[in-house]
Amino acid sequence: MFPLPEVVKPSASAIDKAKIELERALGPSKVLTLPEACATYSTDDSGAGGVTPDAVVLAETTEDVRKTLEIVEKTGVPVVPRAGGTGRTGGAAVVAGGIVLATSAMKRVLEIDRTNLLAVVEPGVVTGELHALVEKEALFYPPDPNSLDSCQIGGNVAENAGGPRAFKYGVTREYVLGLETVLVGGSILSTGRRTTKGVTGYDVTALFVGSEGTLGVFTKAILKLVPKPQAIATILALYSDVNAAGASVARLVSGGIVPRCIEMLDGITVQAVRSSGVPIDDRAGALLLIEADGPALEREVERIGSIVSSGPGVVDVVAAQDASQRARLWAARKMMSHAVRKLAKFKLSEDIVVPRTKIPELLARVEALGQKENVKHATYGHAGDGNLHVNFLWDDPAEEPKVLRAIEALMRATIELGGTLSGEHGIGLAKAPYLPIEQSEKLIAVQQDLKRVFDPKNLLNPGKIFPSPGHRAC
Ligand SMILES: Cc1cc2nc3c(=O)[nH]c(=O)nc-3n(C[C@H](O)[C@H](O)[C@H](O)COP(=O)(O)OP(=O)(O)OC[C@H]3O[C@@H](n4cnc5c(N)ncnc54)[C@H](O)[C@@H]3O)c2cc1C
Repeated sequence: MFPLPEVVKPSASAIDKAKIELERALGPSKVLTLPEACATYSTDDSGAGGVTPDAVVLAETTEDVRKTLEIVEKTGVPVVPRAGGTGRTGGAAVVAGGIVLATSAMKRVLEIDRTNLLAVVEPGVVTGELHALVEKEALFYPPDPNSLDSCQIGGNVAENAGGPRAFKYGVTREYVLGLETVLVGGSILSTGRRTTKGVTGYDVTALFVGSEGTLGVFTKAILKLVPKPQAIATILALYSDVNAAGASVARLVSGGIVPRCIEMLDGITVQAVRSSGVPIDDRAGALLLIEADGPALEREVERIGSIVSSGPGVVDVVAAQDASQRARLWAARKMMSHAVRKLAKFKLSEDIVVPRTKIPELLARVEALGQKENVKHATYGHAGDGNLHVNFLWDDPAEEPKVLRAIEALMRATIELGGTLSGEHGIGLAKAPYLPIEQSEKLIAVQQDLKRVFDPKNLLNPGKIFPSPGHRAC
């Protein structure tokens, strides 16, 4: 499905040398070389790429990462960093063979500082486990990708992950105060700070956040925490169709209301969730799941309730009465991606963002391009941020060209509406061909210059982010 970029493949002798050196430096228990064992590390949740790596390093310490990146430089064999493998754009997918450097076993929470409101963690800590741990201390780590049961902090930092709560609290970047990063060649770079303020020199930490494993490998992250909100309220608003739901989002946002999440599901998605056993009123052709927290909650819930029930197309508005009802509503939201996946043999999920007020227009454009190309689609996502996941669904591989045309049309429509190509999943392999739709040649060249500063031989996660001659020209 995704055209592979043109990348330089390592020679057989370089690979053999790298394997021998890795086993010698790390011990055979931390280095997988059997093709069957390595094959499970070839791609991520996107299914992109998929070349079996020649070796997989199961790093347990910063020193393991350091030695691996020393061997990478010495042998010229490329390396792909990997965390939970839940990425949606092929960031951890292998395209040139070589080494996968898995940091999942580096999963210690090294420190929780309640006074200075921060945590120091290794990259393999599962995001949901960090939530649970800090919440026991009445603290809160807001970034909440819906994959939080399996994605890890290293992958979240590399993708600058978001999630439903980003509407109020922002994305991962806002919570990364500092990083320990190992560079190709094996040098260790500490960036950032432990203070809330700090403007010393260039913000290299911010550059690393969202770098998709192409600049260095994180071995520690200093994360900002906030006090845990005392109370939370969840509201479910059902609409006759997605346009009514989209208009309601625009009304909420222009009314100056900032709940912590506004999630939207269109008609096909609602039906997929229903078919998976979640009872949803038959009249609903779209829904919003809204959650608010913080002080003056009762007043805020009243305001939200009156706005979401005031427009056309409202079917019903209900507020969760207790924690178990809340959990049931969110369970439906979390399984939605898998429910939609069951609707067709093939699914591609796009992750575009438009200014919030343009959501109704974007939905109209999606409908029009779906009709033009005759491609089935389902849309859901973090509507409060204008960040929607448009999923294209098809059963016959022969339909692929029209799906690709629909995706390109969606990318162009997004930019025309003043939006951006990715809100949280990154560019990776899947979106690299479309980067020139949004960014100028000059801006892409500046980023490639930056990449060369950290990785002059292009050994770290080659083939990602930037379009290459192997990609379709846009
Ligand atoms: C069901 C589902 C729901 C999702 N919902 C959301 C959502 O709500 N919000 C959201 O933002 N995303 C979401 N995602 C996408 C995905 O979970 C995120 O992109 C996540 O941040 C990836 O984390 P990971 O640990 O799985 O990383 P991986 O997929 O393993 O890797 C992601 C990138 O990070 C790099 N990387 C990994 N470890 C390191 C390291 N130690 N140092 C440097 N680079 C590294 C890799 O090379 C790759 O480029 C969802 C995915 C699924 C399957």
